[in-house]
Amino acid sequence: MGRPVKSPVESVGILGGGLAGLALACLLAGRGHAVTVYERDRAGGKLRRAEAGGLTFDTGPSLFTFPEVWRALLARLGEPDPLELRPLPGGLGVQHTPFGALPLPVPPEHPLAGEWQRYVAAVSPLRSHLLALLTTPPRLTSPDFLRASRALAGVLGPHLSAESWIAAHDFAPALAHALRTQALNAGLPPQDAPALYALLPGLIGAEVYRPARGMGAVLDALLDFARRRGVTVREGTEVTRLSGSQLTLSGGEVCRHDLLVSALDPARLARLRGQSDASPLARRTVSGLALYFALAGESGLPATSVLPPSDFGVFRRSLHAGTLPPDTLTLVHAEGRKLAVLLTVPALSRHLNSGHPWVQAQLRRVETVLHAPGLLQGAAVTALDPLHYAAGGHPGGAIYGAAAPLWRAGPFHPQPYRLAPGLWQVGTGVHPGGGLPAIFGGALIVDGLLALIRL
Ligand SMILES: Cc1cc2nc3c(=O)[nH]c(=O)nc-3n(C[C@H](O)[C@H](O)[C@H](O)COP(=O)(O)OP(=O)(O)OC[C@H]3O[C@@H](n4cnc5c(N)ncnc54)[C@H](O)[C@@H]3O)c2cc1C
Repeated sequence: MGRPVKSPVESVGILGGGLAGLALACLLAGRGHAVTVYERDRAGGKLRRAEAGGLTFDTGPSLFTFPEVWRALLARLGEPDPLELRPLPGGLGVQHTPFGALPLPVPPEHPLAGEWQRYVAAVSPLRSHLLALLTTPPRLTSPDFLRASRALAGVLGPHLSAESWIAAHDFAPALAHALRTQALNAGLPPQDAPALYALLPGLIGAEVYRPARGMGAVLDALLDFARRRGVTVREGTEVTRLSGSQLTLSGGEVCRHDLLVSALDPARLARLRGQSDASPLARRTVSGLALYFALAGESGLPATSVLPPSDFGVFRRSLHAGTLPPDTLTLVHAEGRKLAVLLTVPALSRHLNSGHPWVQAQLRRVETVLHAPGLLQGAAVTALDPLHYAAGGHPGGAIYGAAAPLWRAGPFHPQPYRLAPGLWQVGTGVHPGGGLPAIFGGALIVDGLLALIRL
């Protein structure tokens, strides 16, 4: 555990009990502060447990990447790793492009192995700087930050968007399509995604993991660390107003803390502070419809299959217009009888379920492309739709919040960490990328900055 420090800040209130809020709560409690986490629903945020057909599913994140960041968090907490991370067979999965199916990483015996090696060579100068990029405060006075930024600039060259970087490298069509698809990890089509996202498959390579007991183990670990550090986690407790150091809770209770940290989406926080935050559709990242199926038997499918949009121009126009694209980015995660199908949709807060004709068409596409006729027929299913993601997150249900301008990608973080004296922020909408490495890296950054100023 971190060493307690003498500080005028005794009590810290954290708004939001998602993984970002919980990670920061553990770090600050480890420094000796009395930490309370306020969570409107259940701890875990996007990572929660859902049930379908008698099976339990871990929702939200399914791929654990860049484990160095998790290990850096554990090192700062002084904890051994409870996750037993296991490599996920097939890495980033089979990408079913219109130019043929391509596994990422591309195996040595594949005809495109040479193209893949050319791609990996182009991104590899960044590999040794990744941990620094994800965990170092973006300060021009930090040598680590400057070194990492220089390496990034060297790899990106003049390209601002993922599309521009990929097009300039003239890769074989199947690899280019697969890279465009993976750039959607930014929550944006490749034309709008920062160029950094074109590099991710090469940086991740085969380093894709899952905890032995499933992704829910990440939540269990953080809750255990929090409990042992005396963190109070108040579930079912919504913050309805924030004014100075004062929080108003649902039910009217008022609480004060010496320091507040928001682990909410920035647009939600703005509303709590009485500010407006209009995020037009084109400036939002995508939302999703997550369908968790309990199959009658094991599917026999690879752990991860990816069905890209067949035309990224059409796909982008649909997202900007707020309409459902003819064929959308679809991720399929298979494990025994469990099958998760994640459909990408515009962030419109709309209700969608498995009976909707467009959803039915996307599910038939899954069965056709994966050569599994009737796979999903009659299977029990639980759905989380854009309305669900909007309820505790960004307007419209945008999974990674508002889209940052291209030039603010990577280390040039889109949001300030310190919003006002005594008010800081962490989480998906603050740290670029928004996935687990980004939010854990963001918690480490904020903890480090707070420790520097001795709170
Ligand atoms: C379908 C899907 C697939 C994903 N796949 C991956 C993946 O494979 N790998 C990966 O790394 N990442 C993935 N992600 C992203 C990852 O899940 C998120 O980045 C991460 O869980 C976000 O954590 P967070 O704490 O920042 O935000 P959240 O989990 O959104 O937490 C915010 C919390 O704040 C609470 N809250 C909101 N308003 C209030 C209020 N007024 N008062 C109190 N509490 C409030 C909410 O209820 C919520 O619990 C995926 C996400 C989704 C949705």
